[in-house]
Amino acid sequence: MLIPGIIPEKEPVLRVGIILPGDNKKSVSLKIRNQKTCLFYIDDKETALPLGGVLNIIVSGNGLKISSVENSLEIQNIKLVQQNQDDFILVEKVIAGRGFHWLKEIPVKLPHTIEISLKDNFLMLINELPLETYLACVATSEMGAECPENYIEAQTIVARSWMLANVEQKHVQLGFDVCNDDCCQRYQGVNNLTDKAREGAFKSSGLVLMYEDKICDARYSKSCGGVMEKFENLWENKPLPYMQNLPDAEIPFEVDLSREEEMEKWVKETPKTFCSPHYIPEKHLKKYLGNVDESGHYFRWTIKVSQKELITNLNDKLGLNAASVISIIPLKRGGSGRLLKLGIKYKNKRNEFMSAVIEKDYEVRRVLHKDFLFSSAIIIEEIKNEQSLIPEAFIFRGAGWGHGAGLCQIGALGMALNGFGVKEIVSHYYPGSELVKIY
Ligand SMILES: [Zn+2]
Ligand SMILES: [Zn+2]
Repeated sequence: MLIPGIIPEKEPVLRVGIILPGDNKKSVSLKIRNQKTCLFYIDDKETALPLGGVLNIIVSGNGLKISSVENSLEIQNIKLVQQNQDDFILVEKVIAGRGFHWLKEIPVKLPHTIEISLKDNFLMLINELPLETYLACVATSEMGAECPENYIEAQTIVARSWMLANVEQKHVQLGFDVCNDDCCQRYQGVNNLTDKAREGAFKSSGLVLMYEDKICDARYSKSCGGVMEKFENLWENKPLPYMQNLPDAEIPFEVDLSREEEMEKWVKETPKTFCSPHYIPEKHLKKYLGNVDESGHYFRWTIKVSQKELITNLNDKLGLNAASVISIIPLKRGGSGRLLKLGIKYKNKRNEFMSAVIEKDYEVRRVLHKDFLFSSAIIIEEIKNEQSLIPEAFIFRGAGWGHGAGLCQIGALGMALNGFGVKEIVSHYYPGSELVKIY
């Protein structure tokens, strides 16, 4: 496991949670590609691998059993060590998109070491692998066939820095560093691992962003919308000098999107920033970024939410007893226009006037949409029938995707496509940071 605050002197080994106790799995099937070079341990004792190379493991009583082996005893843990670095074990039905509407089960091919144990009566599967292999796999899932090299390298440096700064530690109590999903970073084993991604990791191996002897907590998101957000506006109230409100542009300009009038105007325009269609037409994003959302609009977008939908979201997610929403009022914005405080006026089911306040960008995004609003940098319009106080629907006009702090993936891609180097890209998004090779 990584230790926060410790800068590794050689390539660390990372533990990635693949099947989590919360996935409620009682069985898993593994297919071992190269049985000759795979070591097999049951309850920490090396054992001969069952013939056939397929292991079906189930929860049984207070332990695990290998159901594909006759009279299998109850065991506590299983470990498989692949000695050849190109080998993989195929694991069927791994969850991707936990907690989202697009949740699905996919097969993944996992390299290096696999550990299976029992946690809270459900299966837990952890993949242990060298950090650089993990980073190449992560970059692969963020990338299309024509992705420029400078972008891959910059993205890999940022992912490595975030990983090693290791500030969040969301899963430390379960004994792994990161999970396999968007909650941490999307990892699907070596499924689509390309030579290009391997090369991107290899070329930048051990390079991280540092600020005053510490590895940068290099957060990143899909699109800032034109201005980057400050760290302290999104997370703890602790400013990070390298994550400020800055225009994502070649020629700097002044704009204060915490002011309502400026934000109004901003969202309706297409300013010339790196993430805008001036640098990269959105219809070309797919060939560079691979998994692109169907709507394909990241820089500026519009969605309509009906009165009924909004009430359902508010009542489900905040436990309100709303019967109708009268208005949604921006109360405080960050410099990128992201909403840090939002007021809601509504009538409850007893026909009384009520109000609620939502705080933090994350919470605004969670509450306003049934899945998750692309970004909280929105302006709100009401669709009203003249006789009624109650709007029929709300229109959200938004800028960007994600929290908008640190590297803006589409902006970094825009920079790479327009001839900017790796160093220029990372220092644009994390100003004042230094690129240092730690191993
Ligand atoms: Zn996670
Ligand atoms: Zn941007």
